[in-house]
Amino acid sequence: MAVKGTGAYNPENIFAKILRGDIPCKKVFENEWVLAFQDIAPKAAVHVLVIPKNPYVSFIDFTKTASEAEIAGVMKAASLIASDLGLEESGYRVITNAGENSGQEVPHFHLHLLGGQPLPPFPV
Ligand code: 5GP
Repeated sequence: MAVKGTGAYNPENIFAKILRGDIPCKKVFENEWVLAFQDIAPKAAVHVLVIPKNPYVSFIDFTKTASEAEIAGVMKAASLIASDLGLEESGYRVITNAGENSGQEVPHFHLHLLGGQPLPPFPV
């Protein structure tokens, strides 16, 4: 079920539970700003989710609300993870879904890092 609108943050969403350690994930990377883990239903050979540790619903919520240091921290972490996964040479895709029209399922802002194989033509 896609997220409707971008209302208040719901602390019961699945990524909030992962951040709290209430449910497990296959962790790829963690620092002060982000947690990154394998998508449970990968859409490509490499499909990693990068999520801020703080509660934001969407890209706009994140960029409007987070400090410049946090925005930079999250984006740099995603870049580092993509490099460390070896995606730079072969190519990759970074996407974020927001709201109903995008089909966003989990209302905690996240970046999808996709690669490790030729990706279907955009949009995927
Ligand atoms: P969205 O549609 O919100 O952009 O993407 C949500 C992503 O989270 C989907 O690709 C979905 O497979 C993934 N996902 C949903 N539930 C879980 C979970 O419990 N664990 C992990 N690792 N990924 C999940």
